[in-house]
Amino acid sequence: MNPLRERIDRVRSRMVDVGVDALLLSLGADLPWLTGYEAMPLERLTMFVLPADGDTPTLVVPRLEAPRVAERSDFVVRPWGETEDPVAVVAGLVGSRRRLAISDRAWATFLIGLQSAVPDASWRRASDVTSPLRAVKDVDEIKALRAAAQAADRVAAQLLGGEIPLIGRREAEVSADLGRRLRAEGHDKVNFAIVGSGPNAASPHHEPGDRVIQVGESVVCDFGGTMDGYCSDITRTVFTGSEPSAEFRDLYDVLQRAQSLSVAAATVGTSCEDVDAAARVVITDAGYGDLFIHRTGHGIGLEEHEDPYLVSGNAAPLVAGHAFSIEPGIYVAGRHGARIEDIVVATESGPDALNTANHDLHVIDA
Ligand code: ZN
Ligand code: ZN
Ligand code: ZN
Repeated sequence: MNPLRERIDRVRSRMVDVGVDALLLSLGADLPWLTGYEAMPLERLTMFVLPADGDTPTLVVPRLEAPRVAERSDFVVRPWGETEDPVAVVAGLVGSRRRLAISDRAWATFLIGLQSAVPDASWRRASDVTSPLRAVKDVDEIKALRAAAQAADRVAAQLLGGEIPLIGRREAEVSADLGRRLRAEGHDKVNFAIVGSGPNAASPHHEPGDRVIQVGESVVCDFGGTMDGYCSDITRTVFTGSEPSAEFRDLYDVLQRAQSLSVAAATVGTSCEDVDAAARVVITDAGYGDLFIHRTGHGIGLEEHEDPYLVSGNAAPLVAGHAFSIEPGIYVAGRHGARIEDIVVATESGPDALNTANHDLHVIDA
């Protein structure tokens, strides 16, 4: 059976389990995951109407975008013209179904329209249905994630090897350089390339700017993109031009140990929060606990951030096929910071780290 048809079947059976009569998918990754088609983020409504019962699913799409839809046997396409009301078209397809789930990222304007068109319906998030299914990757998805990770690894190797000049360059230039290299290594799209140098390394989601990188600084480089639909996401921290202080060396050693122990803890059946704790306990015991200010990781797939989240409070166990980042960091405000990130897949034979670029602290002289 084709993988998309099989996904639709699994989604339908979960809709029955959780009590959803129709799933309405618009923006976000659920739609391409199920249909191979991605909605354009525009003011014209695109919506896939998937009934839990046997009725044929329908993709409601603006007439001028219909030529982009690949012909499929799994659903019918219902193009709507400029003078039609697409909300009324969707409401007609919903019919008498009342327990509805809609894309988490659908625009409020369409949800509000649908709420008045189907006033007695109950609404919930599509992710209640799709997230646990999407979180478990099949063989082809893992292959795509690995290819993206390996491409990102090649850029990381260029960084660690000193092929990407840092000293005297603005963070924004280095960020653009990382992005070009991701594309050169096969990515279709660059999603982000964080470069945080010196004190900026203490800001985990720093926006690379005009700061010129100096000698004797830690530089956090966190970059990723999309390749054949699936995302990469890697972080390496390097040091510029001179031996790091004993203080920074200690911080980095603690971080490196925390990251590798957390990867090793990511076995099937271990709870997400225990994987987080495996990193956090090392960092806390070394006295840096207050400086590790974010969760240890996030799921990854068609989206950069998706289930499962490795965070205290998430007691859900890892399942074979879960793909996620392991990315602890230590941030000393106003001074320096470091983070190490790999993408890992939980498998029956143990954690499979897709990123293998070297984790040791490299001093870059360029
Ligand atoms: Zn992040
Ligand atoms: Zn990252
Ligand atoms: Zn990440």
